[in-house]
Amino acid sequence: MRNNNSSEDTITFLGTAGARFMVIRQLAASGGLWLNLSGTEILVDPGPGSIVQSTKRKLKADKLSAIILSHRHLDHSADVNIMVEAMTNGGFNRHGWLFAPSDALETEPVIFSYLKNYVEGIAVLKEGNSYTIGNVSFNTPVRHIHPVETYGIVFRTASHTFAYIADTRYFDNLCQSYASELLIINIVLMEPKPPIDHLSVPDAEYIIKEIKPKVAILNHFGMGVWKARPWEIAQQMSQQIGVRVIAARDGMKFDLSQLDDS
Ligand SMILES: [Zn+2]
Repeated sequence: MRNNNSSEDTITFLGTAGARFMVIRQLAASGGLWLNLSGTEILVDPGPGSIVQSTKRKLKADKLSAIILSHRHLDHSADVNIMVEAMTNGGFNRHGWLFAPSDALETEPVIFSYLKNYVEGIAVLKEGNSYTIGNVSFNTPVRHIHPVETYGIVFRTASHTFAYIADTRYFDNLCQSYASELLIINIVLMEPKPPIDHLSVPDAEYIIKEIKPKVAILNHFGMGVWKARPWEIAQQMSQQIGVRVIAARDGMKFDLSQLDDS
């Protein structure tokens, strides 16, 4: 019998679309990741539609303890302002933290200045730093190679560790930085396209092979990946690597207790 959710760790995918063409056409949703980690709720990368996707799924923004932006690109940050309004009940319940790289907060901030007073604080993400929110700690091990300042995140709860590899070009240090039992990888491309700083399917396959997590979840699909059916790509990868690889689906809720059985 369970009378609260405090021991549960879950990740709800409020969208699986990556990069501009998937997002502007909303071929898949783009609302980010909603984490509920031992009772601490955190929203990561609230792209366009985050407010729609979260309310539709009965997730309560006023329960959020933090909103984290991996970087300032629109598909990761477009709904940050409305989600701060929602987290703070329109400013009447001042609480929660906003985490973002410095270039999302400085010259052309992605957050309106009046909202800065609604939150408890704003913390700047930096390479190699660790942070704590409620029952969760997380760190941003390495700056990614992407046109704007970008970090992936390793989350630690009382019972699980998982990594979110946000947008980046492949580089060797990725594998060392994100060793964990669950990997969430943003893959936009079917094949590496050198001027474009995004991971491709072969990059993801290599990273999963190196890190060998218990489970890997592919997410943030570009148009080419979408057309090739991400779930089929995931199935092929699973067979080739011998690691359980899943393609995220809009609204999918992944319970981290699944890692305990594998
Ligand atoms: Zn990006």
